[in-house]
Amino acid sequence: MRVDPKVVVKKLSQDDPNIRSLMVWHCKRFDVEVLRRFTELRSLRIAYWYGESLEALTCMPHLEHLHIYMLPRIDDFTPFEKLKNLRALTLNAGIWSDLQKIKTFAPLGQLTELFLIDFFGLIPEDGRIDHMLTSPSLTDINLADVHSFTELAAAIHRRPDLKRFFVPVQSWGDEKCEKCGADIMRLLGLHGTRRRKFACVQCHAKRIQDHESAFEAVYKSIAL
Ligand SMILES: [Zn+2]
Repeated sequence: MRVDPKVVVKKLSQDDPNIRSLMVWHCKRFDVEVLRRFTELRSLRIAYWYGESLEALTCMPHLEHLHIYMLPRIDDFTPFEKLKNLRALTLNAGIWSDLQKIKTFAPLGQLTELFLIDFFGLIPEDGRIDHMLTSPSLTDINLADVHSFTELAAAIHRRPDLKRFFVPVQSWGDEKCEKCGADIMRLLGLHGTRRRKFACVQCHAKRIQDHESAFEAVYKSIAL
């Protein structure tokens, strides 16, 4: 028997209007407007945001953790301004082959509790990431591979404490080099693309070093 997720959510919210944590996973054509009932939510995980805007989130002022796996119709982050208690935000673009444009990331700059930002495939139309990195609580940032050295260096030159998140080389899980078995590193791609470059710490040591030096040079030139 197929259960209509709308019916389930309605029943849930009637049974317990104070529900704190909710996960909506792969519910086809799920109407996000019904989420407005859950005004006490602290944690929300949702696989696919079918809505045209994020406005429904503004009914959850206590929200601390938000994970939206796909949000293909969204280009406006303004509703995030209302989520003053938001601590962790994980968002993936809706279309895997392309970058998804968001007007601006600026509304996130108002969230002083935010400690984790994890974005994949999202790009700001105003070209700026600095104004979302103002939270004093930030301890974890992952902006995938869509920003150039110049953009990253410019964004953090007033926040050197964030530099560790933007060094150009990061480890890539447990993957090993096919040739020598050493760890594989991920090098940052170019702004506006999702061109990922990989390098083996052993076979491509010089390439990795050149990459790091290039970032350092850009960082220093901007900080001066
Ligand atoms: Zn190797």
